[in-house]
Amino acid sequence: MAKSTDKCSFCGRDKRDVNIMITGISAHICDYCVMEANEIINYESTGSKSKKYPSRLELVKPVEIKKYLDQYVIGQDEAKKVIAVAVYNHYKRILQPKGKDKPEDIEIEKSNIIITGETGTGKTLLARTIARLLKVPFCIADATVLTEAGYVGEDVENILTRLLQVADYDVKAAERGIVFIDEIDKIARKSDNPSITRDVSGEGVQQALLKMLEGTIVNVPPQGGRKHPEQKMIQINTQNILFITGGAFDGIEKIIASRLQTNVIGFKKEQERIEINKGNLLQYVAPQDLRRYGLIPELVGRMPIVTFLNPLEKDVLKRILTEPKNSLVKQYKRLFEMDNITLTFDPSVFDFIVDKAIEFKLGARGLRSILEAIMTDAMFEMPSESTQAQELHVTLEYVKSKLERSGISRLKVA
Ligand code: ADP
Repeated sequence: MAKSTDKCSFCGRDKRDVNIMITGISAHICDYCVMEANEIINYESTGSKSKKYPSRLELVKPVEIKKYLDQYVIGQDEAKKVIAVAVYNHYKRILQPKGKDKPEDIEIEKSNIIITGETGTGKTLLARTIARLLKVPFCIADATVLTEAGYVGEDVENILTRLLQVADYDVKAAERGIVFIDEIDKIARKSDNPSITRDVSGEGVQQALLKMLEGTIVNVPPQGGRKHPEQKMIQINTQNILFITGGAFDGIEKIIASRLQTNVIGFKKEQERIEINKGNLLQYVAPQDLRRYGLIPELVGRMPIVTFLNPLEKDVLKRILTEPKNSLVKQYKRLFEMDNITLTFDPSVFDFIVDKAIEFKLGARGLRSILEAIMTDAMFEMPSESTQAQELHVTLEYVKSKLERSGISRLKVA
C-alpha cells in the first residue's frame, strides 16, 4: 500500500505521477499544485490590489440615476427613465441575498437593454454615464466586427477580454460590469427566411451572442485574439454583466408603421385610436419590430428592455453645447483658463454653430469639429502672446471669419 507521504496533500496525486514532489514538515505538494497555486495568487492579488473599482456595489435609486444622467445627457427623458429602472432592477437582482436559507426566492431575470436611435443621439453616452455613476467597468464593442467562431473577424469572447482589461484583470469587478454593443442592427438577418444558407456575419453572430447575454461561464483569452489550445483562459461568469446594445435600425419606421396600422384598423374602434406621431415613429418601437427587422427571437428575448432616443432637434443641440457638466463650451473655457485667458461667447454664436451642424448633417458630433475649427487659431496664438491675463470674446463675425478660413464646408456630409 502506498504511504501517505508518497501523495500530494492537495490533489492526492501519487509521487510517480508527478514531476516533482516538494516535502514540507507534515505535508507534500506536487509541481501541478504549485503552478495552480501560483496562478490563484496572481489573479487574487491583481484583483485585490486594483482598487480601480470598489468591491461593493452601491445601489442607486432610479430617480437618482436619472438625475445623474441629466447632468451629462440632454433630453431623452423617456429613455433615461426606462434605463434607470432597468439598471436599478439589474443591480437589485445582483444584490439579492442568495443561499439555502432562501429556498423560496424568486429568480429575477436579467434586464439587458436595447436602445434604438439615430447615430450620434447619445446611446453610447448614456451607457458610459451609467457605468461611471455605478463605478463599474465599462467597455464598448462593435457588433460589425464580430463573427461566429472559426471565421475571420473577432470572436464574441473578445468583448469580455476588453472588459477584463478595463477592469485591470479584476475578474470580480468585470463580472458586474456594463458592456455596450454598438451597431447591433448591422447583424440583423438579411433575409426573412431563416432556412436560407447560413449568413456568417448576421445570424451566426447573433447565435454566438445569445449565451453570453443570458448568463454563462465564458472562457476568455486574457490578451484577446483567437483561442488556441496552449493559451490559458480566464473564466468569466456573465450572469451579472449588464449588456446594453444600440443601433440606428435604419428603415424600422416602416415596420413600426405597418404594425401600428394593422393594430389600429384591425382591433380598435374609431374613438379608441391612439394619436400617432408620424414624425417620430421610433417611440413606438416594440420587440416584434426588432424581430421583423432581422434580430432572431431568442436574442430579442434576452434584451427585454427596449427603448428609443429622439433625433436631436435644434434646441437640444444648443443645450448640448453649453449645459452638460462637461459641455464643449465648458471644456474650451477650461482649456483657455489654463493659459490665463478668459473665454466668453456671444449667445448668437451658439445658434450659428447649431445651424451649421444641422446644415452639414453632422449632428451632435459635428458641434465639436465646428468649435475646433473656430478656436484653433486662438488656441495656437494666444498662449504665446502674453503671460498676463487675457480675454477672448467670441462674436458672430469672429466665428464666420474663422470658419471661412478653415474651409469648414469640407465637413459637409454629402
Ligand atoms: P451614439 O452612440 O448614439 O451614436 P454618442 O453617444 O456617441 O452617440 O454621441 C456622440 C456625441 O454627441 C457624444 O459624445 C456627446 O458629446 C454628444 N451627444 C449626443 N447626444 C447627446 C445628448 N443627448 N446630450 C449630450 N450630449 C450628446
